[in-house]
Order: sequence, then structure tokens, then C-alpha cells
Amino acid sequence: MLTAPVQRPGTEFFLNKKTAKTIKEKDNLTYGSVNNMLPDDMSSTSDDLDDLITTIGTQGIDLLDGPIYDVAIIGGGPAGYTAAIRATEYGLKVALIEQSDKLGGTCLHVGCIPTKALLFNAEIWEHMQHAADFGIEGIGAPTLNWAAVQRRKNAIIAKHANGLDFLMKKHKIARIEGNGRLTGPSQDGVHSVEVTAASGEVSPVKAKNVILATGSEAKMLPGLEAGGRMLTNIEILAIDELPKSLIVIGAGAVGMEFGSLFRSFGAEVTILEFLPRVVPVEDEEISREITRLFKKRGIEVNTGAKVEKAEETETGVKVTFTDTNGKTQVREAEKVLVAVGRAGRTGGIGVEKTRIELDRGFIRVNEAQETAEPGVFAIGDIVAALPQLAHVGAMSGMIAAARIAGKPFRPVRRDRIPACTYTEPQIGSVGLTETQAKEKGYTVKVGKFPFAGNSKATILGNHDGFVKVVAEQKYGEILGVHILGPQATELIAEAVAVLELEGTVEELMFTIHAHPTLAESLLDAYGAAEGMAINA
Ligand SMILES: Cc1cc2nc3c(=O)[nH]c(=O)nc-3n(C[C@H](O)[C@H](O)[C@H](O)COP(=O)(O)OP(=O)(O)OC[C@H]3O[C@@H](n4cnc5c(N)ncnc54)[C@H](O)[C@@H]3O)c2cc1C
Repeated sequence: MLTAPVQRPGTEFFLNKKTAKTIKEKDNLTYGSVNNMLPDDMSSTSDDLDDLITTIGTQGIDLLDGPIYDVAIIGGGPAGYTAAIRATEYGLKVALIEQSDKLGGTCLHVGCIPTKALLFNAEIWEHMQHAADFGIEGIGAPTLNWAAVQRRKNAIIAKHANGLDFLMKKHKIARIEGNGRLTGPSQDGVHSVEVTAASGEVSPVKAKNVILATGSEAKMLPGLEAGGRMLTNIEILAIDELPKSLIVIGAGAVGMEFGSLFRSFGAEVTILEFLPRVVPVEDEEISREITRLFKKRGIEVNTGAKVEKAEETETGVKVTFTDTNGKTQVREAEKVLVAVGRAGRTGGIGVEKTRIELDRGFIRVNEAQETAEPGVFAIGDIVAALPQLAHVGAMSGMIAAARIAGKPFRPVRRDRIPACTYTEPQIGSVGLTETQAKEKGYTVKVGKFPFAGNSKATILGNHDGFVKVVAEQKYGEILGVHILGPQATELIAEAVAVLELEGTVEELMFTIHAHPTLAESLLDAYGAAEGMAINA
């Protein structure tokens, strides 16, 4: 009996039963010629080729084509690398194909991590401005060394990119550098991905399953191109000088975070949003309050603003828009950030040669992340009808890996996804907004508690915002929690667990929260849903 994969010098062979039978039938292969390919310690004990083929077949060995992976993943962002690690944890043999020489994708290089690094600098900077309020004197007027700020951000990225390299080695994931493209449906259960290296060299990667995880890229407004003074997230993160003024087009999480960040560093910031409110996926009360607080910080916020054109001038950029009253308005600034959403990177990856279905450029999947093409999965930002968030991408990767390994999994539930915006103040939310709950037919009760009544918020010197709990009337099940205020992006973790465990207002009202913590504001908000907050 064969007990290990068959090796010929420099190559590993895999012969599945079907391939072996084909060889036998087509090439009239003899027992001797198969046996000659085996290393000495593995020569078969059987004189019968069929038995040998069966034996080899159960070892998953293919004598013809080099390795056949259990999974080939195209894209090494948070969705792809998470799927790769989890798949190897299930014992699968994995190839991870990434076009860049660095793993981590948008999230690590031009998304979550660099923005949050800069936002933390901004937070420290703001504290320094108010040091005297905390009795810290003698530090004079702080100055900002933007180059040093950028260096720190880049060092954080590099550290984590190295960490990913380590994890790939630790989990024995075959990392393949190049641009991957599906060549079509599987042949005899094996998919082929064509990988084009930077040198132009093309090589096939074979796998029983393929996971597409190619992510997304910033959309531009029609007629605009990124570069010069028109920036996307990529260019703005690399600027070598702080702009004195910035126009942000789009007030989703990305636009709001950059607006908040550059305002903290002293830029004049104007936000233009087409929809009637900023952070439009959040509860209406959050949108209203953050608009008020942004304006208080000196940020100009224009909602219902339709951008007509943006032109570079000698000194900056001029943006013309129609305001909510139909009036034409013009604003000028040093730079413009376009943050109007992201498009799925589904072009050039071979989907057109398969049965994969697209929905406005994103891939349709079922709850196991399977596309309409058997054996092909899609995860992360390229998936239709899922929010483009790194933690959603990572979880969808874990689900795909579980499915491929035949292990149990729980599908992504849209109403259990935390959404975090790291503005000043922060937003953390999960579940249904008050309006969504009512639209779904729930009779709701709402508990709202302002951070003004929380002692830890006083200690931090940050009273802005509130916690809002949306629960259904009859059993008190908590349907949504919406937080605007200090550390909201950390506080929301409790609410995610509460929703996941189908917690009720009554249960949470009697759940002890440590004192003094910001989390006590959740306890008060649960109580407020019954008209019984203690601290307000
Ligand atoms: C400014 C900004 C801030 C953000 N902040 C947050 C945040 O705070 N929290 C959060 O949850 N989300 C945040 N996001 C969103 C988050 O970055 C994405 O949801 C996440 O990166 C998606 O992961 P992904 O693996 O699907 O795709 P990506 O991270 O885009 O990775 C895709 C990878 O695939 C590679 N690739 C593409 N095509 C090919 C190909 N044909 N062959 C080989 N490789 C290929 C790319 O090079 C890339 O490395 C932010 C996004 C932006 C732009």
C-alpha cells in the first residue's frame, strides 16, 4: 500500500483514480511504467494495475499535472488570507494567489489600518491641544511632523504584512505571486487558474475548489480621474503634505473618517453628500447628531448636494454642485477626496467563462458563499448584497472554508454585522435601526441614554453622543443598538453578542456592567427602554 504522496525529484505527483484510469485506457500504461515512477520505498505490492491505480487514487495522486490543491484562492486581502488559514486548519491543501508582493489587500495597505492609525494620531493631537484641561502644562504649542506621522503608519502596515507572511509559512500555504484568472468550469472536478506573474510568465494552478477574493476599488465620478488634486483613498493616504483645505465627496464611513481626520489636523473641510443625510446606513438620529457635532467642529456639511463638476485650477480644485434647494454652489479647496463607493473587482478574473451570476458588478452567492459555478466560491468585497467590511470578508472566508471542508458553519446574517465609523465622535452600530424595525412590522420600544450621564465619559472629557437601543415591544428582544460617542467602536462588541444570543431588555437590565465604564451607558440605555435609566 502507498502511505505517502508520491515524489519524483523536484515534483510532487497526484494521481486521482479517474486520471489514472484515463492514462491506462488512453496510453495503454503498464503496471511497470506506473511503478517506475514511484520511489523505491513505495513500489506497489500488487501485480495488478487496477489495484495499484485504486490504491494510488485513494491517496489523491495525479501523475500528470503537478499539485492539485483542495482550494486555490485568488486575492490575499482579509477575505482571502483568512479563508486560506482556516482551510489549512481544516487540513486542506491551499494555494493563495496574490498579484501584489504584499498580502493584506485594501484593508491593510490603503483602508482600515492606515486610516485608523492616522485617526489615532488625530486623537492624540486633539488631546495635546487640550492638555491644560487635564492639568498637563509646559508642553508649549505642539507641532505636527507629518512625515513622522506617515512613517509610523507605514511601519504599522509593514509589521502586519510581515505577520501575514509568517502566518502563510506557519500554515504551509502555497503562496503564488501573480494575477489569477479562472479559465472556465472545472474539468473532471479540477479547476484551472491561470496565473500571470509580473514577468509575464503564465502558469496554471489546479484546484478542486476556487475562492474568488479579489476585493474592490474606489469608484470615481463620471469624467474624473484619480491623480493630481483629485484623490481616492489610495492617493490621500500617501500625501506628503497636509492640505489646508479639503472637499470630501461622499459621506459614508470612508468620507466621514477622512473629513474628521483632516479637520482634527486643522484643514478646512467641506463634505458634499448626494443623499439627504450623512452615514446613510446608520439610524437617522445618529446621522442628525453627527452632522450637528461635525458642524460644531467647523466642518461644512452639505447633504442633498449633487456634484455637477470638479475642475483643477492653478491653486486647487473647484467643485460645482446643486444644493438641496436646487441652487448652484461652488466650493474651492486644495484637494478633493472622492469617496462615493467601491466597485467589485470582477473584471479580468474569468467569471464570464463560467455560470457565475453578477449583480451590478458584484458576485451572487448562496449562504455558503457558493457561486452558481460548482466548486467556485466568492468572499469579501466582491460579493453582492453584503457590506464591504473587512470583518465581513474574513467571516465569509471562514464560511467558504468550512463548506469546502464539509464542516458546519453559520451563514452571515446581515442584521448581526457591526458597522464602525472611527470619526470624532465614533459610531458603532449593529442590527435594525428604529425605522427598519418599524418597516419590518415590529412594535418597538426605544431606550436612549446620553453619554452626558456617564461618569467615565466625564473622566475622559468626552460627553458627546448617546446609546440608542431598539427592542421589540412584546418580549423585549433587542433588535438593534446604535452608539455615537467615545469608544463606540469598542462598545459595540457587547451589543453584537447580545443580538447573536437574542438577549432581551430584561436580561440586559440585570446584567452587571463594571463601574466606572463607558459600557454602563449600555446598561442605562437598556433600562431607558423600560423608562428606567438610573443616570438620566
Ligand atoms: C479608506 C478605507 C477604510 C476602510 N476602513 C475599514 C474599517 O475600518 N473596517 C472595515 O471593516 N473595513 C474597512 N474598509 C473596507 C475594507 O478595506 C474591505 O472591506 C476589505 O479590504 C475587503 O477585503 P477583501 O479581501 O474582500 O478585498 P481586498 O482587501 O481589496 O483584497 C483583495 C486582494 O486581491 C488582490 N487581487 C485582486 N485581483 C487579483 C487577481 N486577479 N489576482 C491576484 N490577486 C488579485 C488585490 O491585490 C488585493 O490584495 C475600508 C476601506 C477603505 C477604502
